[in-house]
Amino acid sequence: MAKVLICDPVSTLAIEAMRDLGVTVDVRDDITIDELSQVIGQYDAIVVRSRTKVRAPMLENTGQLKAIIRGGVGLDNIDVDIARAKGIKVLNTPRSSSKAVAELVLALMFALARPIAYADASMKAGKWEKKKLKGTELEGKTLGIIGYGRIGRTLGEKAKALGMDVLAYDPYIEHEDLVTLEALLKAADYVSLHIPHVEETHHLMGAEQFAMMKEGAHVIQASRGGTVDERALYEALSNGHLAGAALDVYTQEPPEDKYLHKLIALPQVVATPHIGAATKEGQDRIGGEIVDLVKEHLL
Ligand code: NAD
Repeated sequence: MAKVLICDPVSTLAIEAMRDLGVTVDVRDDITIDELSQVIGQYDAIVVRSRTKVRAPMLENTGQLKAIIRGGVGLDNIDVDIARAKGIKVLNTPRSSSKAVAELVLALMFALARPIAYADASMKAGKWEKKKLKGTELEGKTLGIIGYGRIGRTLGEKAKALGMDVLAYDPYIEHEDLVTLEALLKAADYVSLHIPHVEETHHLMGAEQFAMMKEGAHVIQASRGGTVDERALYEALSNGHLAGAALDVYTQEPPEDKYLHKLIALPQVVATPHIGAATKEGQDRIGGEIVDLVKEHLL
């Protein structure tokens, strides 16, 4: 009988579904790295989200381990090459988060167009700053999407339904919405990133790209820390070239460096703590995909 260790919080429905399949499921969703290193070899699979880091030292004594299942998209918390070289499958749940992330990006875009966060804080402070809080509309504006994969295309469809013009840049697919990165940057009122963080995409948005953007345009970063040069973004915002930015992911999470605190503290920045995939429905879908992976690879 297959044995699975759940190392980070996973929907209880998924845990029950695995047990119904006859799988032995141990839930230790606050397990430390040291504790996991001791027991990892006793399981056929471990399930992690983003909290648990599966690095080389942990992969020295993997015993019967056959699979590492990451509930979510990015695999940056796992030493994938080392695991695969040992014959351990590294699996993820790429389909589950697209709607949740696309909806968060829409919410962030609205929060940039209308000063919702500021207005709420002002009301709670007992003020009535009606005259100061004029916004803009999204309808008729251009959204430039960098990375037209699952999330990028889901966002594109929703933005078109709002009456936005959508342009996209992605060198690896074919689609009628695609333009060059330069054309996208020059035309877009909002630029949203939906790419993985790999060597090629490191600081894909830096000083040169921000300078190409229209004056008064906005940036939304809900992909992966490292794809945006945050220091250059701070400059482009504080010198007034860009009007605003919304950030859900950061080079460092949680942000500790001074420069990140300075960026987040700018009044023209709206910030959230990596909550793109954090919806009830999205988490249930991730649980469903995990159960499918267990069925496919362990039973
Ligand atoms: P995906 O693989 O479906 O799409 C990524 C797209 O990026 C692909 O179409 C690929 O061709 C394209 N791409 C790769 N290199 C590129 C480059 N240099 N320039 C332009 N495009 C390039 O992935 P997805 O499911 O859409 O996820 C996109 C990103 O969102 C991932 O980095 C993922 O980690 C991140 N994500 C964030 C959250 C969150 O909570 N904020 C949640 C889920 C996923």
